[in-house]
Amino acid sequence: MPADVPITRISASAFTIPTDAPESDGTIAWDRTTLVVVEIEAGGKTGLGYTYADSAAADLIRRMLASQLEGRDAFAIEAHSAAMNAQVRNIGRPGIAACAISALDIALWDLKARLLDVPLARLLGSARESVPVYGSGGFTSYDNARLRGQLAGWVEEGCVFVKMKIGREPARDIARVGVAKAAIGDTALFVDANGGYTRKQALAFAEQFADYDVRWFEEPVSSDDLDGLRLLRDRAPGTMDIAAGEYGYTPYYFHTMLAAGAVDVLQADATRCGGITGFLRAAALCDGFQIPLSSHCAPAIHLAAAIAAPRLAHMEWFHDHVRIEHMLFEGAPTLRNGRISPDWSAPGHGLVFRRSDATPYEA
Ligand SMILES: [Mg+2]
Repeated sequence: MPADVPITRISASAFTIPTDAPESDGTIAWDRTTLVVVEIEAGGKTGLGYTYADSAAADLIRRMLASQLEGRDAFAIEAHSAAMNAQVRNIGRPGIAACAISALDIALWDLKARLLDVPLARLLGSARESVPVYGSGGFTSYDNARLRGQLAGWVEEGCVFVKMKIGREPARDIARVGVAKAAIGDTALFVDANGGYTRKQALAFAEQFADYDVRWFEEPVSSDDLDGLRLLRDRAPGTMDIAAGEYGYTPYYFHTMLAAGAVDVLQADATRCGGITGFLRAAALCDGFQIPLSSHCAPAIHLAAAIAAPRLAHMEWFHDHVRIEHMLFEGAPTLRNGRISPDWSAPGHGLVFRRSDATPYEA
C-alpha cells in the first residue's frame, strides 16, 4: 500500500488523576482515574487520541503497536485497525489491548481530519448538529445532599435525563431513588446497577423503580448474563429501557448482545471498542437490529462519532470524565440546553492536550 503520508512518530503517556471525592457504584469503588494519551504525527500534523485504562495500555502501545503503524500511510485506517487487532491476537484483544488500539484509532481519525483540514464530524458525515447528553454520576458513595445537588445541577443546565448509581446497598436504593426523583422533578431518571443485582432482585426493583418513573435500568444484572438482561427487558415496565454494552471490546460482542435481544438501547464506548472505527461498527449493528445507541463515558472523544452515528439516542456526560476533559483538553465541549455540539470551525475533533497541566499527574 503506498505510504503517501507516512506516519513519522507515535507517543503514548499515562496520567493518573484523583477524583474530587471517593466514588463507588454497585460493584466497584475508586478514587482515581488513569488517562492514556496518544499522539500520532504525519505530514506535519498531529492526531490526538486517548482512552481511560490502566497505564499498561501506554506500555502496550510503545512495545507492540507503534511498530505496526510507523512508516505506513496515515490514511490507511482500516489496514491499521486490522494490523493492530492481529498483533494482539495471542495476548487477548478484549481489555487493555482493545483500549490501546482504541486510543490509536481515535488519534488516526483525528490526524486524517487535520490533514484534510476538516472537522472530524464533517469527515464522518454529520447526521445532526448537536447531541443531547444525560448527566451521569450520583455515586453510591455520595450522601443525599451531594446526590441531590449534582443531579439538580444537570437539570439546571438543561439535561432532560440524569443517571445515578445503585446496587451497592440494595436496602437503601429505593430511598436514594426517591431522593433523586424529588430533586429533578419531571426530568427522566436513569439508574445503573453495574451488574450488582441478582435476576430476582432486579425484577423486584424494576417494578418499584417504576413508581419513581425510572426510564432506564442499566446493567440490572451482569452484562455477561444475556438471558438475565433479556428476562428484565421482557418483564420490566414498558416505560423502562434495559441498557448494557459498556464492556464491549469487539463487534462480535455487540452482535451477540443484540442478537440475544438483551437490550432496548445498546451502549458502546469508543475508548474501548476500537475507537471511532469500532464505535461506527457498533452503530451499524444497531441500525441492522433497529436498536438505539448511546455512547458510554468520555463525551469529548465521542462527540464527532455521535454526530455521525445512525440511531444515536444520547451521550453520557460522565462526571469524572467531563472534569478531566475540562482540566486537560482545550476545546472540550460544554453543555448548552442539555446538548453538546462540535466546534465546526476546528479541524479534527478540535481537542488540544494541555500537556503541561497534565505533567503533575504523569503515571
Ligand atoms: Mg454503566
